[in-house]
Amino acid sequence: MQLTSPRLRASLLAAASLTLVAAVLPPPKPLGIGDRLFPELGNPGYDVLSYDLSLTYKDNRSPLDAVTAIEARSLEPLERINLDFTHGTVASAEVNGQPARFESAGEDLVLTPAHPVPASAPLHITVRHTSDPRGRASDGGWVVTEDGLAMANQADAAHRVFPCNDHPADKAYFTFRVTAPDGYRAVANGLPGALPAARAGGATEWTYRTLHPMATELAQVSIGRSAVLHHTGPHGLPLRDVVPAADRERLEPWLAKTAGHVAWMEERVGRYPFENYGVLIARATTGFELETQTLSLFEHGLFAGEAAGYPDWYVESVMVHELAHQWFGDSVTPRTWSDLWLNEGHATWYEALYADGLGKYPLERRMREAYQRSDQWRAQGGPPAAPKAAAPGQKIGLFRPVVYDGAALILYALRQEIGAAAFDRVERRWVAENQDGIAGTDDFVRLASQEAGRDLTAFLRPWLYGETTPAMPGHPEWGGPAAAAAPGKAPAAAAAPAAAPVAGKP
Ligand SMILES: [Zn+2]
Repeated sequence: MQLTSPRLRASLLAAASLTLVAAVLPPPKPLGIGDRLFPELGNPGYDVLSYDLSLTYKDNRSPLDAVTAIEARSLEPLERINLDFTHGTVASAEVNGQPARFESAGEDLVLTPAHPVPASAPLHITVRHTSDPRGRASDGGWVVTEDGLAMANQADAAHRVFPCNDHPADKAYFTFRVTAPDGYRAVANGLPGALPAARAGGATEWTYRTLHPMATELAQVSIGRSAVLHHTGPHGLPLRDVVPAADRERLEPWLAKTAGHVAWMEERVGRYPFENYGVLIARATTGFELETQTLSLFEHGLFAGEAAGYPDWYVESVMVHELAHQWFGDSVTPRTWSDLWLNEGHATWYEALYADGLGKYPLERRMREAYQRSDQWRAQGGPPAAPKAAAPGQKIGLFRPVVYDGAALILYALRQEIGAAAFDRVERRWVAENQDGIAGTDDFVRLASQEAGRDLTAFLRPWLYGETTPAMPGHPEWGGPAAAAAPGKAPAAAAAPAAAPVAGKP
């Protein structure tokens, strides 16, 4: 038989070459970029520039229909392209306009393009798939709320929602197109891209896009019976909050505080780094709050008042914690997950400073209490800048006290060592020079050394990597190795305890 249609012949040849490729390539396997804590997270060989994510929501019991379109650039010749993806069903995949073979290997979706991709070539990848909100909540990804869905992808769960290069070292721009039944409101990171568009069958499509690159772990899509409230922050910064419509009036006094929180942070570190900000309050029990970029996720129960065990000052300090992450963790993204202390240490530092400013929990007292527990935290979780991996099946097990107050303690020690003025310059330069970028522990040590005017490697190394906690400069009375060390400086005046001890943040 002879094929006469060029189109049929071309498709047969493409199919034949696919078979040929499959015959010579070894079986697909999961790859990673060598993160010590998540060895199979992220993928080598390409750089994602943008994600265009289309999601169609029906209800919380049904997988969403999804199309993920990725613009990327190859960094080396690629016979295969690994994406991170699990917990959804793939219907088809295309690379540069041609169908690609797709197989799962571990938590990777492995694409074999019809033709190998040369180095430094544009990559257009389209995957049609489902995105399943069902499953163990503790695995991360979609969060099922009373009235819809939200997302909590930190640290390694974005690829439970959509195919991606799921490592914060590969930031990209995002566009979201979310179709939901009428009566629901969909909101995502960034600015609304267009007016909501009517879709068939009583549904509406909402679009958003980010004006800054974002790590996959910071993506947020909220679908619910939500009210969206608008305020204005410092220098005209648009503030947008998303709350259950039924809770709007009760939550408004809390939402009104954000503008002041932004101004407070800006006084300390400089301009807020993104296009807008707001809080997303979800009727869900997550056990954590999360700094999703421009739209931080909070549990409804946090705002339940003193009766629930949360004094007002504590709630506000947690709001400041997530806001501080917009600079530390979101705008400046960790190079590896071992650099998590740079996220949580700084967010805890500003949380603690804010509580100190409210006169509720003096910073020095909090740091002294952290110092007393620091050796125990290090024994449990490893040193702040080289934490132990989470136990299998405990996705957020990495988030231990040693990277929160245990890491804020490093910043306190640094400030004690180099003085408040130099410390202030370190903080401002860190977020200004690394805005929209990626930075790690070595970068921080280098910058701190520059501002101190001397190499701080020997000083910071034991704070970052030691099994035990070094002496606290200026506080020999805190004990530990400090008690034995010769006091080089006069200790700062100890603040008198003024408030009852408070349990740590979940
Ligand atoms: Zn945090």
